[in-house]
Amino acid sequence: MEVLREAKGKRTVFTCSFQIDDVVLLHMLLKENLSFDVLFLDTGYHFEEVYSYMEKLKRDWGFKLILAKPELSVQEFERKYGKLYEKNPDLCCKMRKVMPLLKSLENYEVWITGLRREQSPTRRNLQPKELIRLPSGKEILKLNPLCDWTYKEVWSYQRAHSIPYLSLYDEGYTSIGCKVCTQKPKDPNDPRSGRWGGKKLECGIHTFHKEG
Ligand code: SF4
Repeated sequence: MEVLREAKGKRTVFTCSFQIDDVVLLHMLLKENLSFDVLFLDTGYHFEEVYSYMEKLKRDWGFKLILAKPELSVQEFERKYGKLYEKNPDLCCKMRKVMPLLKSLENYEVWITGLRREQSPTRRNLQPKELIRLPSGKEILKLNPLCDWTYKEVWSYQRAHSIPYLSLYDEGYTSIGCKVCTQKPKDPNDPRSGRWGGKKLECGIHTFHKEG
């Protein structure tokens, strides 16, 4: 993939949720002559299925996996804030996803994602390559090689390469994040309509640099 040439010889991280889009891209990245770390934002709230699938894939495919964890464990966090994901999901995402991501990104020059324009109206203008500024002032190159792929194309690639996928898809989930904020889609035409009970569209890890 042409855009990946930008990552050659640079300290590179790929943020992976282990949803099918990201796993398809991971499969492609592993075939490129690239050195990169795979970063999972481990909020502590993920489905058990995600943790076991991730570990199996790591064993079978042999990539370097880094877990970015929040400062507080789920137990400590809930003791202090209660069920923040119900009361204030924006703040919960900020503390359990965005802050650990920002800390990790300080170590890299290039950030690869599996984002696609089709996923959400908030991703409609996604470019294959963006230069973004972290709150620290550091600039990082963000690459979105699948930006113009459709959901159908992602699954065609999965089938063509017999890529193992999360069993939750067979149960009817179409977009999979933290268990407490993920339901089956309310709108069959909108795969992300089961996230956050339809109350929000983004967790903030891809929008922090656009906020004022
Ligand atoms: S998706 Fe839900 S549980 Fe996960 S960090 Fe965001 S609000 Fe918290």
